[in-house]
Amino acid sequence: MAVINIDEAKKNVQQVGFLDVDIDARLDLFKEIERLKKEKNAIILAHYYQEADIQDVADYIGDSLGLAQQAEKTTADIIVFAGVHFMAETAKILNPGKKVLLPDLKAGCSLSDSAPPPLFKKFKDEHPDHLVISYINCSAGIKALSDIICTSSNARQIVESLPEDQKIIFAPDKNLGAYINKKTGRNMVLWNGACMVHEIFSREKITRLKVRHPNAKVIAHPECEDVVLQLADFIGSTTQLLKFTEKDEGKEFIVATETGILHQMQKNSPHKIFIPAPPDNSCACNDCPHMKLNTLEKLYLCMEYESPELTMDEDLRIAALKPIRRMLEISASLGL
Ligand code: SF4
Repeated sequence: MAVINIDEAKKNVQQVGFLDVDIDARLDLFKEIERLKKEKNAIILAHYYQEADIQDVADYIGDSLGLAQQAEKTTADIIVFAGVHFMAETAKILNPGKKVLLPDLKAGCSLSDSAPPPLFKKFKDEHPDHLVISYINCSAGIKALSDIICTSSNARQIVESLPEDQKIIFAPDKNLGAYINKKTGRNMVLWNGACMVHEIFSREKITRLKVRHPNAKVIAHPECEDVVLQLADFIGSTTQLLKFTEKDEGKEFIVATETGILHQMQKNSPHKIFIPAPPDNSCACNDCPHMKLNTLEKLYLCMEYESPELTMDEDLRIAALKPIRRMLEISASLGL
């Protein structure tokens, strides 16, 4: 139950994850958020997997690479990060002088959680001659143990920018790693992590859906398992999937990634039909429960009261910054 007193809510914020206070139901949250952006020189960066209302008030909507690039170049005093914890952490790593707010500190990530830093350190020590490339969906602790960070937009090019005989560990997503191994002919050692949302799609149900929609193209994120990727007409990062649906002459698409992206796809191509790929049970498991912890109400409250704020240890921040910078430099040199 919500508490009445804001000071009490602030005290509880680390434990609860967000400011648990009631909001005056008469407030127009869209207007209020616009006001707060101007008053506080704040920018809202939102991931494509956020709920539609949050996407509609964001200054920038993107995938992990785009969001990191925006976080790096913003002149705003406050970055409000409507995404999950590791994304806000990345923004803080790049902008130590700025206040970074996250509507709900408990918006985590199953993929990031699948790589605890102490276990990964042991794994890395067992492969001393390997360079570590980590997908950006990981904690600052894993980033600090990595040589280069990548996203699904640039993973292939980053791997290909290294000498062919360079031994590589790829973490934490085994599906993305296997896909890059297949595309590049490399034999990277894979950490056994995965995203709970992208592993849930059912090959059988997608196949049945294709029979009912014979003209629909299947598009998939490389975090999906290989059995699903084999059905895909196009595989790409969230941004690449969005662009594909805008440019392709197809009129129907079965989309195998988190459902939040359908909002932008439908907005940008109103005459096309987008069908979420079905999960292998009847739950709404292709909605990321972590991403969806953020709500418009929590977004408003965190901007109004500037809490919860993401803070981090400075030594960890500096260690995690190096591999992110390397990614941004390689991406810039490749024009990504
Ligand atoms: S969709 Fe998967 S990888 Fe993305 S935040 Fe959710 S759990 Fe993490």
